[in-house]
Amino acid sequence: LPISGEQVTVRTERGSFVADHVVLACSLATVRRMTITPSMPVPLHAAVHGLGYGTITKTSVQWPHRQWPPGYATTAGRAQRVYEPTMDQPGESGILMAYCGGDGGHQWATMPEPERIALAAAEMTAMHGLALQPLGGYSRAWGAEPRFGGSYAVYEPGQVTAFWQPLREAWGRVHLAGEHVATCTGYMEGALESGETVATRIVAAG
Ligand SMILES: Cc1cc2nc3c(=O)[nH]c(=O)nc-3n(C[C@H](O)[C@H](O)[C@H](O)COP(=O)(O)OP(=O)(O)OC[C@H]3O[C@@H](n4cnc5c(N)ncnc54)[C@H](O)[C@@H]3O)c2cc1C
Repeated sequence: LPISGEQVTVRTERGSFVADHVVLACSLATVRRMTITPSMPVPLHAAVHGLGYGTITKTSVQWPHRQWPPGYATTAGRAQRVYEPTMDQPGESGILMAYCGGDGGHQWATMPEPERIALAAAEMTAMHGLALQPLGGYSRAWGAEPRFGGSYAVYEPGQVTAFWQPLREAWGRVHLAGEHVATCTGYMEGALESGETVATRIVAAG
């Protein structure tokens, strides 16, 4: 991503592109792997490379019958939080989701997916006293996804004051967009808001 004067050149595996402005709308995990010349200003570099990310690992298990009460359950066990995303769907079978973050999210991410599904099924069985065999499952460890590097931005202690402003200012013709630079980080609404903010800034720049 060489930046010079009036233009930015983006070199990708699929070819090179020259643009007036570039919007990096991906997670900072991806930005961290980009080669950008000249180097970023120190405060921006520190923010891009230092911002915290959540560790959510979600593991869903499908069951042939819904032998659990409606609602949201928390446990001191490894599943942390369990809820039913299929609550509003008709049918006999249902899905329970284990939603794990913090150090627990990291620990779940170290396990292969089949182990995560088996562990979630065991935890759900214990929580709700299920007398069922699971039909299947699916798990996504966001911290282990190279394109995302985590579930969503988490400003750690000291990072709001140090990182907030540098991440939200244009660096010449390069702009960051996405939930991590929104007013309300961590949500789709904020991601959209950040896109509008950057688009407005580019239009104003002419
Ligand atoms: C477990 C979990 C639960 C959530 N729950 C909610 C919720 O209930 N409500 C809510 O509002 N939000 C929720 N969110 C957050 C929401 O998903 C994000 O805030 C939102 O998707 C961020 O949008 P974005 O455009 O900033 O980034 P993304 O949606 O991550 O988009 C970035 C895009 O960049 C692409 N990309 C990355 N690297 C490259 C590359 N090298 N080349 C090309 N493309 C690349 C990615 O594939 C991706 O499509 C949740 C997130 C997680 C992980």
